[in-house]
Amino acid sequence: MPNCYIETLGCQMNKADSERMLGLLSELNYQETSNLEDADLMILNTCTIREGASDKAYSYLGRWNLIKQKRPNSLIALAGCLAQEKGEAIQKHFPFIDVVFGTHNLHRLPDLLLNAQKTGERQCELFENLPEEIPETPIIRQTKVTAWVNIILGCNFNCTYCIVPQVRGREKSRSPEFIKQEIEQLVAEGFKEITLLGQNVTAYGLDFGDQRNLAWLLRYIHDIKGLERIRFLTGHPHHVDDYLIETVAELPKACEFFHIPMQSGDDEVLRRMARIYKVSDYYKMVEKIRNLMPRASITSDFIVGFPGETHTQFLNTCKVVEDLQFDSCITAMYSPRRGTVGAKWEQEPVLKVSDEEKQERIRHLNALVTDVAEKRSKLYLNTIEEILIEKESERNNQMWMGRTRAGKLINFPKQGVFKQGDLVNVKITQANPWALRGEIV
Ligand code: SF4
Repeated sequence: MPNCYIETLGCQMNKADSERMLGLLSELNYQETSNLEDADLMILNTCTIREGASDKAYSYLGRWNLIKQKRPNSLIALAGCLAQEKGEAIQKHFPFIDVVFGTHNLHRLPDLLLNAQKTGERQCELFENLPEEIPETPIIRQTKVTAWVNIILGCNFNCTYCIVPQVRGREKSRSPEFIKQEIEQLVAEGFKEITLLGQNVTAYGLDFGDQRNLAWLLRYIHDIKGLERIRFLTGHPHHVDDYLIETVAELPKACEFFHIPMQSGDDEVLRRMARIYKVSDYYKMVEKIRNLMPRASITSDFIVGFPGETHTQFLNTCKVVEDLQFDSCITAMYSPRRGTVGAKWEQEPVLKVSDEEKQERIRHLNALVTDVAEKRSKLYLNTIEEILIEKESERNNQMWMGRTRAGKLINFPKQGVFKQGDLVNVKITQANPWALRGEIV
């Protein structure tokens, strides 16, 4: 049996895509290896959200070329967002890449590989758009208890810092029947929790042009027997309306977890980012969530140093983080992406925030985010939480690792007859900003 090695850079969408690649490759009898030196096929599933992610990809390719020189029959494939953006140019520059495919034609991987093997010629195929019908593909999961389920691809927004619409295309929702079938199959295999996934998951169903949306989908899949928990990731504040919040509050299996990137706490910066909401809209959303679900976890993403961001505007972001008490935040210094409006602004000296200033701002924001996260974590102390046991802790095989309904990571000693996939009650005994510890009660 041939071996394949997949290196996945970037977000959950890419991780989910890698699981689909493994599924497709299993039909060609490939089996996964964690040892690059054993691989007959090496796939680099790339990200392009930040400059650093592209640089990382080039450095992988450089190293893989050396391996290929020692094993000339092995194949190298380039996939993901960077491939979709400029795969053809990259293959010209790195002619040892055998196959290039993008985010819109992942399903074509087997054919492209077979062609490369049969003809010995390099293959490069990039679709400008997703096919009319999203192709259903087999999936090999890397997990046993929790699974990602893609429900929508692409994004119709045009945030001025973001390259996703260029590389992932316009929104296309997957058929609810296929989604339900996939979840039923997962539950039959023992999975207990699913995360509905999309770049803009809260836009689910808008392209159907009827009443079906994310709230509708949550109800549609809710009663699948054996399914314990449902989450969704990543949302846009514009689509998180009262009905969606009320639906999460009402449905017992829908977890009280909202990852809704805010990006800036200043109206003028949000306007230039083309985020189409105001700070006050976000506050109203949080108020509604916390009124209905006081224990909900709300997490966000923030960018510092967007072109033109003044120190005062940055301090407005800090104020929001303190006011809204996020459970955690992913922070990033602005880095320009080719072809975006933000990248043009970054070229204008009067708008560009210096690298030193960006670093200073992110240090300040990270310290604040950690502080707030610690306060939020401490609220769990001495409470009893329902935990889904996901797996053995990576550092200690005498401990379980799981999550609360609100998504907080927890480690606790193995005890009794419990096993992976069980729901247990755990008393929280220690809390740090990013994780908890406890004991089964
Ligand atoms: S909503 Fe998200 S994926 Fe879409 S353009 Fe904005 S940042 Fe990018």
